Amino acid sequence: MSRILIIEDEEAIADLEKDYLELSDFQVDIENTGDVGLKRALTDDYDLIILDLMLPGIDGFEVCKKIREEKNVPILMVSAKKDDIDKIRGLGLGADDYMTKPFSPSELVARVKAHLARYNRLVGTNEKKNDVVEIRGIKIDKTARRVYIDGEEKNFTTKEFDLLTFLAENPNHVFTKEELFREIWDMDSIGDIATVTVHIKKIREKIEYDTANPQYIETIWGVGYRFKV
Ligand code: CA
Repeated sequence: MSRILIIEDEEAIADLEKDYLELSDFQVDIENTGDVGLKRALTDDYDLIILDLMLPGIDGFEVCKKIREEKNVPILMVSAKKDDIDKIRGLGLGADDYMTKPFSPSELVARVKAHLARYNRLVGTNEKKNDVVEIRGIKIDKTARRVYIDGEEKNFTTKEFDLLTFLAENPNHVFTKEELFREIWDMDSIGDIATVTVHIKKIREKIEYDTANPQYIETIWGVGYRFKV
Protein backbone atom coordinates (compact mmCIF):
# COMPACT_ATOMS: atom_id res chain seq x y z
CA MET A 1 0.00 0.00 0.00
CA SER A 2 1.43 3.40 -0.97
CA ARG A 3 1.95 5.97 1.75
CA ILE A 4 1.18 9.62 1.17
CA LEU A 5 1.97 12.65 3.30
CA ILE A 6 -0.22 15.73 3.01
CA ILE A 7 1.35 18.94 4.30
CA GLU A 8 -1.54 21.39 4.40
CA ASP A 9 -2.67 23.94 7.00
CA GLU A 10 -6.30 24.12 5.90
CA GLU A 11 -7.81 21.18 7.73
CA ALA A 12 -10.97 20.93 5.63
CA ILE A 13 -8.90 20.59 2.46
CA ALA A 14 -6.46 18.15 4.03
CA ASP A 15 -9.32 15.98 5.30
CA LEU A 16 -11.05 15.97 1.93
CA GLU A 17 -7.85 14.94 0.15
CA LYS A 18 -7.24 12.24 2.74
CA ASP A 19 -10.78 10.82 2.38
CA TYR A 20 -10.49 10.54 -1.38
CA LEU A 21 -7.03 9.04 -1.29
CA GLU A 22 -8.07 6.50 1.32
CA LEU A 23 -10.96 5.46 -0.89
CA SER A 24 -8.31 4.58 -3.47
CA ASP A 25 -6.46 2.48 -0.90
CA PHE A 26 -3.68 4.88 -0.04
CA GLN A 27 -2.40 5.24 3.48
CA VAL A 28 -2.44 8.94 4.32
CA ASP A 29 -0.90 11.13 7.05
CA ILE A 30 -1.48 14.85 7.51
CA GLU A 31 0.80 17.52 8.93
CA ASN A 32 -0.43 21.10 9.31
CA THR A 33 2.77 23.10 9.47
CA GLY A 34 5.81 23.41 7.24
CA ASP A 35 8.41 22.57 9.84
CA VAL A 36 6.70 19.48 11.26
CA GLY A 37 5.74 18.36 7.74
CA LEU A 38 9.31 18.70 6.53
CA LYS A 39 10.67 16.76 9.49
CA ARG A 40 8.19 13.97 8.88
CA ALA A 41 8.89 13.91 5.13
CA LEU A 42 12.59 13.47 5.81
CA THR A 43 12.41 10.91 8.61
CA ASP A 44 9.50 8.78 7.43
CA ASP A 45 9.21 6.83 4.17
CA TYR A 46 6.52 8.18 1.89
CA ASP A 47 5.76 7.28 -1.71
CA LEU A 48 4.44 10.72 -2.54
CA ILE A 49 4.04 14.11 -0.84
CA ILE A 50 1.24 16.61 -1.42
CA LEU A 51 2.60 19.96 -0.38
CA ASP A 52 0.67 23.20 0.09
CA LEU A 53 2.56 26.37 -0.69
CA MET A 54 1.40 28.79 2.00
CA LEU A 55 2.10 27.17 5.33
CA PRO A 56 2.78 28.39 8.83
CA GLY A 57 6.40 27.93 9.87
CA ILE A 58 8.47 27.13 6.81
CA ASP A 59 6.63 27.74 3.53
CA GLY A 60 6.14 25.22 0.74
CA PHE A 61 8.99 26.61 -1.38
CA GLU A 62 11.49 25.92 1.36
CA VAL A 63 9.96 22.56 2.32
CA CYS A 64 10.11 21.38 -1.30
CA LYS A 65 13.73 22.47 -1.66
CA LYS A 66 14.78 20.76 1.57
CA ILE A 67 13.00 17.48 0.73
CA ARG A 68 14.52 17.48 -2.74
CA GLU A 69 18.03 17.89 -1.30
CA GLU A 70 17.63 14.50 0.35
CA LYS A 71 14.93 12.51 -1.39
CA ASN A 72 13.59 11.61 -4.83
CA VAL A 73 10.02 11.13 -3.59
CA PRO A 74 7.46 12.65 -5.99
CA ILE A 75 6.16 16.01 -4.75
CA LEU A 76 2.84 17.43 -5.87
CA MET A 77 2.55 21.11 -4.96
CA VAL A 78 -0.77 22.84 -4.48
CA SER A 79 -1.52 26.52 -4.27
CA ALA A 80 -4.52 28.83 -4.22
CA LYS A 81 -2.87 31.23 -6.62
CA LYS A 82 -2.13 30.59 -10.26
CA ASP A 83 0.78 33.05 -10.04
CA ASP A 84 2.41 30.89 -7.39
CA ILE A 85 2.43 27.93 -9.71
CA ASP A 86 4.38 29.96 -12.27
CA LYS A 87 6.74 31.00 -9.51
CA ILE A 88 7.28 27.39 -8.41
CA ARG A 89 8.06 26.39 -11.96
CA GLY A 90 10.42 29.35 -12.34
CA LEU A 91 12.32 28.47 -9.19
CA GLY A 92 13.00 24.93 -10.33
CA LEU A 93 12.50 23.50 -6.87
CA GLY A 94 12.15 19.99 -8.14
CA ALA A 95 8.42 19.56 -7.63
CA ASP A 96 6.92 16.93 -9.94
CA ASP A 97 3.52 18.49 -10.42
CA TYR A 98 1.45 21.53 -9.49
CA MET A 99 -2.24 22.00 -8.91
CA THR A 100 -4.23 25.18 -8.36
CA LYS A 101 -6.93 25.19 -5.70
CA PRO A 102 -9.74 24.51 -5.91
CA PHE A 103 -9.28 21.21 -7.72
CA SER A 104 -11.54 18.20 -7.85
CA PRO A 105 -10.50 15.42 -5.47
CA SER A 106 -10.78 12.88 -8.27
CA GLU A 107 -8.29 14.83 -10.33
CA LEU A 108 -5.92 14.83 -7.38
CA VAL A 109 -6.26 11.05 -7.06
CA ALA A 110 -5.67 10.59 -10.79
CA ARG A 111 -2.50 12.66 -10.66
CA VAL A 112 -1.24 10.89 -7.56
CA LYS A 113 -1.73 7.54 -9.29
CA ALA A 114 0.03 8.73 -12.43
CA HIS A 115 3.04 9.97 -10.48
CA LEU A 116 3.32 6.81 -8.44
CA ALA A 117 3.19 4.67 -11.56
CA ARG A 118 5.82 6.80 -13.24
CA TYR A 119 8.06 6.79 -10.18
CA ASN A 120 7.76 3.03 -9.75
CA ARG A 121 8.69 2.54 -13.39
CA LEU A 122 11.80 4.68 -12.95
CA VAL A 123 12.84 2.95 -9.75
CA GLY A 124 12.05 -0.40 -11.36
CA THR A 125 14.47 0.16 -14.21
CA ASN A 126 17.25 1.05 -11.79
CA GLU A 127 16.85 -2.14 -9.84
CA LYS A 128 19.38 -4.77 -10.71
CA LYS A 129 17.43 -7.73 -11.94
CA ASN A 130 18.97 -11.09 -12.68
CA ASP A 131 19.19 -11.97 -16.33
CA VAL A 132 17.06 -15.09 -16.67
CA VAL A 133 16.25 -17.35 -19.63
CA GLU A 134 13.17 -19.53 -19.18
CA ILE A 135 12.02 -22.21 -21.59
CA ARG A 136 9.51 -24.95 -20.79
CA GLY A 137 10.50 -25.80 -17.22
CA ILE A 138 14.15 -24.85 -17.63
CA LYS A 139 15.20 -21.69 -15.87
CA ILE A 140 18.72 -20.38 -16.46
CA ASP A 141 19.80 -17.57 -14.16
CA LYS A 142 22.68 -16.06 -16.09
CA THR A 143 23.61 -13.61 -13.35
CA ALA A 144 23.89 -16.23 -10.62
CA ARG A 145 24.96 -18.93 -13.11
CA ARG A 146 22.41 -21.36 -11.79
CA VAL A 147 20.07 -23.74 -13.58
CA TYR A 148 16.71 -25.00 -12.34
CA ILE A 149 14.81 -27.87 -13.91
CA ASP A 150 11.15 -27.79 -12.89
CA GLY A 151 12.19 -25.69 -9.91
CA GLU A 152 14.98 -28.00 -8.80
CA GLU A 153 18.53 -26.72 -8.99
CA LYS A 154 21.02 -28.81 -10.99
CA ASN A 155 24.77 -28.39 -11.00
CA PHE A 156 26.48 -27.58 -14.25
CA THR A 157 30.16 -27.15 -15.00
CA THR A 158 31.23 -23.85 -16.54
CA LYS A 159 31.27 -25.14 -20.10
CA GLU A 160 28.04 -27.12 -19.70
CA PHE A 161 26.42 -23.95 -18.40
CA ASP A 162 27.77 -21.84 -21.28
CA LEU A 163 26.72 -24.37 -23.88
CA LEU A 164 23.21 -24.83 -22.51
CA THR A 165 22.75 -21.06 -22.19
CA PHE A 166 23.99 -20.41 -25.71
CA LEU A 167 21.62 -22.99 -27.20
CA ALA A 168 18.66 -21.86 -25.10
CA GLU A 169 19.24 -18.25 -26.08
CA ASN A 170 19.23 -19.19 -29.75
CA PRO A 171 16.28 -21.56 -29.92
CA ASN A 172 15.35 -23.32 -33.14
CA HIS A 173 18.72 -22.47 -34.64
CA VAL A 174 20.77 -25.46 -35.79
CA PHE A 175 24.44 -25.18 -34.84
CA THR A 176 27.17 -27.48 -36.08
CA LYS A 177 29.54 -28.99 -33.54
CA GLU A 178 32.30 -26.82 -34.99
CA GLU A 179 30.27 -23.68 -34.45
CA LEU A 180 29.46 -24.65 -30.90
CA PHE A 181 33.08 -25.52 -30.16
CA ARG A 182 34.23 -22.16 -31.48
CA GLU A 183 31.52 -20.34 -29.58
CA ILE A 184 32.03 -21.91 -26.17
CA TRP A 185 35.67 -22.94 -26.07
CA ASP A 186 38.65 -20.68 -26.69
CA MET A 187 40.52 -21.25 -29.91
CA ASP A 188 43.48 -22.40 -27.86
CA SER A 189 41.66 -24.89 -25.73
CA ILE A 190 42.57 -28.48 -25.90
CA GLY A 191 39.88 -30.59 -27.38
CA ASP A 192 37.90 -30.94 -30.53
CA ILE A 193 34.34 -31.27 -31.64
CA ALA A 194 34.04 -34.55 -29.74
CA THR A 195 34.14 -32.36 -26.61
CA VAL A 196 30.85 -30.83 -27.75
CA THR A 197 29.24 -34.26 -28.06
CA VAL A 198 30.39 -35.21 -24.57
CA HIS A 199 29.05 -31.99 -23.08
CA ILE A 200 25.71 -32.32 -24.86
CA LYS A 201 25.37 -35.81 -23.40
CA LYS A 202 26.07 -34.54 -19.88
CA ILE A 203 23.65 -31.65 -20.24
CA ARG A 204 20.94 -34.01 -21.46
CA GLU A 205 21.42 -36.23 -18.45
CA LYS A 206 20.61 -33.23 -16.29
CA ILE A 207 17.76 -31.65 -18.21
CA GLU A 208 16.04 -34.42 -20.14
CA TYR A 209 13.42 -36.70 -18.70
CA ASP A 210 14.39 -39.35 -21.26
CA THR A 211 17.85 -38.89 -22.81
CA ALA A 212 17.00 -41.34 -25.61
CA ASN A 213 14.15 -39.07 -26.63
CA PRO A 214 15.35 -35.53 -25.89
CA GLN A 215 12.72 -32.80 -25.59
CA TYR A 216 15.09 -29.87 -25.36
CA ILE A 217 18.33 -30.35 -27.23
CA GLU A 218 17.62 -32.12 -30.47
CA THR A 219 20.26 -33.87 -32.58
CA ILE A 220 20.06 -32.95 -36.23
CA TRP A 221 21.85 -35.91 -37.83
CA GLY A 222 24.82 -34.98 -39.91
CA VAL A 223 24.52 -31.31 -38.96
CA GLY A 224 24.54 -30.58 -35.25
CA TYR A 225 22.18 -29.56 -32.50
CA ARG A 226 19.33 -27.23 -31.86
CA PHE A 227 17.35 -26.19 -28.84
CA LYS A 228 13.66 -26.88 -29.47
CA VAL A 229 11.08 -24.38 -28.27
CA1 CA B 1 -2.14 27.10 3.03
